[in-house]
Formats: sequence, structure tokens, C-alpha cells
Amino acid sequence: PPDVEELGRSSWTLLHSIAATYPEKPTGDQQSNLKQFISLFGKLYPCWFCGEDFQSYVEKKEPQVMTQEAFGRWLCDAHNEVNIKLGKPTFDCNLWKQRWKDGWDD
Ligand code: FAD
Repeated sequence: PPDVEELGRSSWTLLHSIAATYPEKPTGDQQSNLKQFISLFGKLYPCWFCGEDFQSYVEKKEPQVMTQEAFGRWLCDAHNEVNIKLGKPTFDCNLWKQRWKDGWDD
């Protein structure tokens, strides 16, 4: 099975990159696609306990797909939930766009 940490880093990169390129004013179709993607992502994620927790989070806090900013924040909160679970520091969500859209060196 894939390495949970390496898989996680790559997956967060994919997810936050999707947020960073999601339209500021998405169409109904784009919003529906993103909702479906997030739902299927949790179901297919190749670390089953990670995917299950992610699915519970999605049920508890509905993905915000109305705007790029709303989705970026929602995803940042979801990532912070995992950070807390793993005892990692939380990330300042005011900086998500700077980190994932404008880019900085990690
Ligand atoms: P990562 O958490 O992978 O983060 C990568 C980079 O993202 C960081 O260096 C930082 O620059 C930035 N970042 C950090 N927090 C945020 C944030 N809140 N918003 C935006 N950017 C941020 N691992 C487990 O052991 N158990 C689990 O249950 C588990 N569940 C997971 C569920 C999902 C959906 C995903 C994608 C991953 C999960 N992981 C889980 C993996 C875990 O989250 C980390 O990816 C892994 O531990 C490597 O951590 P890291 O310290 O390298 O940084």
C-alpha cells in the first residue's frame, strides 16, 4: 500500500491546487462537479481510515463550493482537522491562497 505520509503530501497538493484554480464564480455544473469529486475522493482514497475520517468530516461540514475563496477555506479547515488529529500545528487559513496560489517555498 502507498506510504500514508507521502500519499498525504501529494494528495493535499492536489486538493489545494484544485482550490487555487477553481473559478471565483463557478457555474452550477462546476459546483456540482467539485461536490462529487470531494465525495468520491473520500470513498476512493487509498488509505481507508484516512478516507473514512474525511467522509465523516464532509458529512459534518458540507463542502463550500460557491466561490474559490469559500472552497479554499473549507479545505484548509478540513486539512487543519487532520493536523489536529495528528498533533501537527494548525495552518493559518488566511494564508492558504498565498501558500497554494501565489506560491512560497516550503
Ligand atoms: P501535510 O499535512 O501533508 O501538508 C503539506 C503542506 O501543506 C504543509 O507543508 C503546509 O505548507 C501546507 N498545509 C498544512 N496545513 C494546511 C492547511 N490546513 N491548509 C492549507 N495548507 C496546509 N495521515 C494519517 O496519519 N492519518 C490520517 O487519518 C490521515 N488522514 C488524511 C486525510 C486526507 C484527506 C489526506 C489528504 C491526508 C491524510 N493524512 C493522514 C496524511 C497527513 O494529513 C499528512 O499529509 C502527512 O502526515 C504528511 O504531513 P506533512 O507534515 O508532510 O504535511
